Amino acid sequence: MTDHDKLQKWLMARRDELNTRLGKIKKDASRKNSADWSEQAQERENDEVIDALGNEAVIELGKINRALDRMNEGDYGVCLSCGKDIPVQRLEVMPYADLCVQCAEARGL
Ligand SMILES: [Zn+2]
Repeated sequence: MTDHDKLQKWLMARRDELNTRLGKIKKDASRKNSADWSEQAQERENDEVIDALGNEAVIELGKINRALDRMNEGDYGVCLSCGKDIPVQRLEVMPYADLCVQCAEARGL
């Protein structure tokens, strides 16, 4: 198995995990309307937490889908900025990285 196969497997597993989590968040959000008045302030706070978690998952999902697209197109692991190969060690830590360390640092990421 090549490094990219391994990373692709990881990305797909992570994508499934995030989709499951988002599905749960949506289900929780649709259940909230039954509460009486005294519970609604607390519920609003929970909604904000759910929104934050949901947004994070959506953003990560976007990165994962982009990485999987680039794998299909055969340009995965190439820095979008300078065109050099991103070291495997970096991809193992952050499989959806699309910039090499130097370019990411230059952009303050
Ligand atoms: Zn670069």
